[in-house]
Parts: sequence; structure tokens; C-alpha cells
Amino acid sequence: MKAHDGMYIGGAWRPAEGRDTIAVVNPADEQVIAHVPAGTAADVDAAVRAARAAFPGWAATPPAERAARLAALRDALAARAEEIAETITAELGSPLRLSRAVHARVPVLVAGSYAELAAGHAFEEKLGNSTVLHEPVGVVGAITPWNYPLHQIVAKVAPALAAGCTVVLKPAEDTPLTAQLFAEATVQAGIPAGVFNLVTGLGPVAGQALAEHPGVDLVSFTGSTAVGRSIGATASGAVKRVALELGGKSANVILPDADLARAVSAGVANVMSNSGQTCSAWTRMLVDAERYEEAVALAAEAVAKYEPGERIGPLVNAKQQARVRSYIEKGLAEGARLVAGGPDSPREKGYYVSPTVFADVTPDMVIAQEEIFGPVLTILRYEDEEDALRIANSTVYGLAGAVWAADAERAVAFARRMETGQVDINGGRFNPLAPFGGYKQSGVGRELGPHGLAEYLQTKSLQF
Ligand code: NAD
Repeated sequence: MKAHDGMYIGGAWRPAEGRDTIAVVNPADEQVIAHVPAGTAADVDAAVRAARAAFPGWAATPPAERAARLAALRDALAARAEEIAETITAELGSPLRLSRAVHARVPVLVAGSYAELAAGHAFEEKLGNSTVLHEPVGVVGAITPWNYPLHQIVAKVAPALAAGCTVVLKPAEDTPLTAQLFAEATVQAGIPAGVFNLVTGLGPVAGQALAEHPGVDLVSFTGSTAVGRSIGATASGAVKRVALELGGKSANVILPDADLARAVSAGVANVMSNSGQTCSAWTRMLVDAERYEEAVALAAEAVAKYEPGERIGPLVNAKQQARVRSYIEKGLAEGARLVAGGPDSPREKGYYVSPTVFADVTPDMVIAQEEIFGPVLTILRYEDEEDALRIANSTVYGLAGAVWAADAERAVAFARRMETGQVDINGGRFNPLAPFGGYKQSGVGRELGPHGLAEYLQTKSLQF
């Protein structure tokens, strides 16, 4: 695969300060497909300086012009959709169909939504005898994961640029080629030099240097809770803004009168998509005692259609594969009933894990509490609605969820009592404008739509 051997800083691809590189591996066949530079604190420093230098000019650029650049970015991403899909399939391992339909397509929608929001946003408001100015926060340090490599970049960079901020991005080490393609798209879109900068590198080196850099005003991080917690502590210590998008263990609550077949099939698809590497995945299916066995049988039947290597890809790397397999072992040791899959690798080559379903899972089990981040569904039994609510709210997470009922009103009443940031009612459709983010330990802040834009703005009030 084509890769740049430099960093995109201040409008040019520059050689890295150090000589170390990161090997990019195709998780489907374990072959090295490219190398990218492993950035150091010196590269991060150069990128932050470039972003600081570009900030006053970009902040003063009229919102309509910023909107025009974002519209051009949307068009550049749309024009290169096939190349983006192939690159994501090569470095993440997702089936090409998923890469096209989700990984390449959603970022186009999100970039487009921010072109519109930048053009229409009221960056000034009147409040009594005050004029309130909504001004960009400054230089943003964005640290992104590998599971939705382009979406997570665009969900940070597009609102930051719409607000008038400049950005330094440190993408995940597993998926840097997608980030390089994104940098190329910003050039095609005519985004001025220094407004967007890219430093590839290891998390504890380049990522940490970015989070700690005094020239960064806001750190936006998506990834594991452990790293998020430490970034949050570093940022608060420096009195910097911080946005954290962390893990989840979301509940798919199927109420007793719901269309069971539909809810189970949508629930299985939701967990198996992207090999279960989705922070908002509904990994806990909650079913009433009466229809429990029927749901388990339906889930086992649905999961059998996910043939590894065809409909479901590998995990991103060997470490994640080992981690997920150890959770499956843990589920067996805890006494959960395995109804599909298991810890054995379904293929000789590639970081595959068998699509797995556990029944008789109780809320206190580790597999019902911790984020597994693989194709593993747990099915829990509830006695009545109060019991279902207690189970749904019984983890430290609160990112997403689903409720199914014959009557949408009943589902909404249940959703109101859930401690979580986003709930799909009877299989509601994805909305790129809906705020996305966590309650409890799933994070701080919101991404997407106008709420995502607000994260990158600060207010100044003028009194008359
Ligand atoms: P991670 O948190 O280590 O990596 C996410 C990003 O943070 C990457 O860009 C990484 O380079 C960077 N990073 C790592 N250590 C850092 C540090 N000390 N300072 C600054 N940046 C740092 O996640 P991972 O190891 O790739 O995945 C482990 C687990 O995290 C997964 O199994 C899953 O549970 C969770 N995860 C969640 C999401 C999500 O969308 N919420 C995404 C990826 C992973």
C-alpha cells in the first residue's frame, strides 16, 4: 500500500525527526503492507507550533469560507471513497462491503453536516445588554482509535475546523494510512497550511506528548477508559479542556411485547458488525424469562450466518484477538452457557475470533460488566421491567442502548430511565446530527451535530 514517509505539518509532508517506523499489518493475512514514521515529542512540537501559527488566521476566516472548505473536504472524501474503503479493509480488516457502506460513507455525511452547520451557526447572540461571541477554543490535540478510523478523525476535525480551531491529529498506530489519506483530502479541499496537521506515532510517545503539550488548548480523545482516564488527569492538571469518548457495555432491552425475531436479529447484527469493535455495540441483550430460550435460539441461528472471512472480518491485531479470546475463556469459567462460537480461532491465518454467543449470563459476571470489543454477545434474563432497568443500568458505562416494544411510548418511557447517552427505539436509524457521547465512565462531552460543534467553542460576553 502507498504510504507517506513523513508527517503532514504546516502544509507539507516533512521528514520525521526520528528514524523509527511503525509497521502496518493487514489483520486478515498478517502481512506487513506499509511502514509509517513513528513520531516523537519533537514532531508533535513542530505540529503544535504550526497549528498555533495558523490559528489566528483560521479563527478570523469568515464562517462561510470555513464552510466552503468543509464542503470541499466532503467532496474530496466522496471522490476518493473507493480508495478509502480499500485502505480501511487493508489495515483494519473489515469486509469491503462494510468499509464502503459505513467506514467510507459516514465521514462524508459528517463532513457535509459540518459544512452546513458552519454556514448556519449563530457565532454571535444577543442576551439583554450583552453580545455573546462564540469563539474557537484554540489548538486541538485529537487522538483517535482504529475501530472506525476515518469516522473518528472526521468527528473531531470537522467540528474543530467549523468552529475556527486548528488541529494536530495523532491517529491510532494500527490505521495510519487512512489518516494519511485524510491529510491528502484536506490539501485537495484547500484547507490552509497549518490548520490541519498529522503526526503518526505510538500512543505513549506521540499521543502522550500531544496531550501534555502546553500549546494545546483542548484534547479530544477516543479510545480505552484506562488511557482516557490518564489523559483526563493530565489535561485537568493543566486546566485544559478535554473531551473523552470511551468504552461501553450497552444494553439491548427487548420488552415482553416486542417483535422478538426483529429485535434479536438487529441485536446480533449490531454486535457482529465491525467484528464487535464498536464502542456503542449492544453487547448485552436483555430478554424476559418467558421468551428467553426462544431468543437464545434465534440469536444462535442468526450468528451462524456470520462466516469468518466472508461476512465478518478479523480483529485489528493479535493483541486484540488474544484479549477477546481470553474473555471468552473467562465466560466459560464463570459458568455462562456457550451457544455459538468459542475461544478457538476459526481460521489458521488472520486475527479471527469466532462469532460467539453466551446465554445464562448474570449481571455480576465479568463478561456482563467489561467491554470485550469483539464479536461476543451476552444474553441476560430479566423478571420484569424494573429488573430489566436495574440490569441495564448496572455497569460503569453508559454510551448507547436500544429498547424494543410493541408500543413506542412504552419504549420511550423505559429509555428515559436508562443511564446512557443514546438509545435507539425499535431499531431507529443512524442520525449524523444526534449528539453522541457517554453517561458515567463512557466519557465526557458530545460529538456530532450542533452539540459536537459547541465543544470547540468558548464564549466571550460584551456588555453595552
Ligand atoms: P488505546 O486507548 O490504547 O488507543 C487509542 C488511541 O490512544 C490511539 O491513538 C493510541 O495511540 C493512543 N494512546 C495510547 N496510549 C496513550 C497515551 N498514554 N497517551 C496518549 N495517547 C495514547 O486503545 P487500544 O489499546 O487500541 O484498544 C484497547 C481497548 O480500548 C479496546 O479493547 C477497547 O475496549 C477500547 N477501545 C475503545 C474505543 C472506543 O471507540 N471507545 C476504540 C478503541 C479501543
